[in-house]
Amino acid sequence: MIDYEKFASYSEPVPRYTSYPTAPEFSADFSEQNYADHIARSNESARALSLYFHLPFCRSACYFCGCNVIYTSKDDLKERYIDYLEAELAIMSKKLDTKRIVSQIHFGGGTPTFFSAAELERIIGAIDKRFSHIAKGVEFGVEIDPRFFSQDQMIVLRNGGVNRISFGVQDFDPKVQESVHRIQPLEQTKNAVDIARNNGVESINIDLIYGLPFQSVATFENTLRSALLLNPDRIALFNYAHVPWMKKTMRKLDETTLPCVAVKLKMLQMAVETFENAGLMMIGMDHFSRASDPLNIAQKNGKLHRNFQGYTTHSDCDLFGFGVTSIGEGVDFYAQNYRDLAPYEAAIDAGKLPLMRGFALNEDDRLRKTVINTLMSNFTLDFTRVESEFKIDFRTYFAAELAALKPLENDGLITISDRSITASLTGRLLIRNVVMHFDRYLKKQPQNERRFSKSV
Ligand code: SF4
Repeated sequence: MIDYEKFASYSEPVPRYTSYPTAPEFSADFSEQNYADHIARSNESARALSLYFHLPFCRSACYFCGCNVIYTSKDDLKERYIDYLEAELAIMSKKLDTKRIVSQIHFGGGTPTFFSAAELERIIGAIDKRFSHIAKGVEFGVEIDPRFFSQDQMIVLRNGGVNRISFGVQDFDPKVQESVHRIQPLEQTKNAVDIARNNGVESINIDLIYGLPFQSVATFENTLRSALLLNPDRIALFNYAHVPWMKKTMRKLDETTLPCVAVKLKMLQMAVETFENAGLMMIGMDHFSRASDPLNIAQKNGKLHRNFQGYTTHSDCDLFGFGVTSIGEGVDFYAQNYRDLAPYEAAIDAGKLPLMRGFALNEDDRLRKTVINTLMSNFTLDFTRVESEFKIDFRTYFAAELAALKPLENDGLITISDRSITASLTGRLLIRNVVMHFDRYLKKQPQNERRFSKSV
């Protein structure tokens, strides 16, 4: 049983831990030479590759959106952006061994389908040209806005190998949609899902958000019902992260219309029960999938992993990002591209990788990253596995952290045994509050200076 009252009492600003160390720790001191050295070591490891392409354009702003987006209606920006993606791929291919197996590709945004069918074909062609060993059955996912999606685009994506689509929905209620500046009738979403299914897409995900303006338990119940009518394989249910100090468009939302914590908790509770009754099991703090889904199976086997795109079964890949703002991740590094077009293009014009900042992980960082990622993904941590990999005695190394976790154990969020930590159902929803105790950098930051979204 989830203890929702206990859950609410833990509302505080906490990082989302899509990486450890978190992105604010990334530094411009991480040079292009540092990156090149890490890429060379990554080549030696011959690990499989995961490729991320950030396609940043959107026609208009959805006021809840926290993504790095360029709002435009200018079509000519797109061909130019693809020119630069091709040039970036060419520069990268001088450093990265492009004969390595590619087992995952992801298009994120922005709105990837802001690009026409022909433009998407050009992007996929550029990837195929550079990477000679794309695995048969590569997991190829695309984030799609149902408002901008056609049969022509689907055919190009399907022929390019796309087998997973994540549709942005957030909420079906007309008043909520109007308040967040995203009108998207159920019929439009249903039509998009039908296009994907009729073209053989294996896995369909629907993104929903709770905590948006004007949402109530009653309206959200209708949204959940509508989402299930689409028969998704996965659902991502995010807590709306209100960070108007970081995202100007969020300032357009009337804060007095945001639901209070008690209503948000009821919506969450209802969603968990509704999804589980429909056979979609909670696999992470914010993801639901069917028992036969690879994410579910990976979690049961302790092999689930979390990265910038959410939960993944590809923990054995090194990730390389292309396009503005994209982030790459290897065993011991992160590398992020420039966020704005001008410096991104200038670096590529100079024949350089458009690296804005990065991070080289030391042994302690790698150890803590393993602990945090394992708990975030699998909700249980076996000390023995970590001890043999990092040659430490877990209880000695993390004595202070284990002591700090005692109150969370007393509150029923976790169980700490001699050899493991395991989160309860309530603890799963609060897993960020648990893992933050292993974050060495967060400890240095005064509590009143933490600018993260709240955990509840
Ligand atoms: S939610 Fe999607 S479509 Fe809306 S602004 Fe963000 S990236 Fe663009």
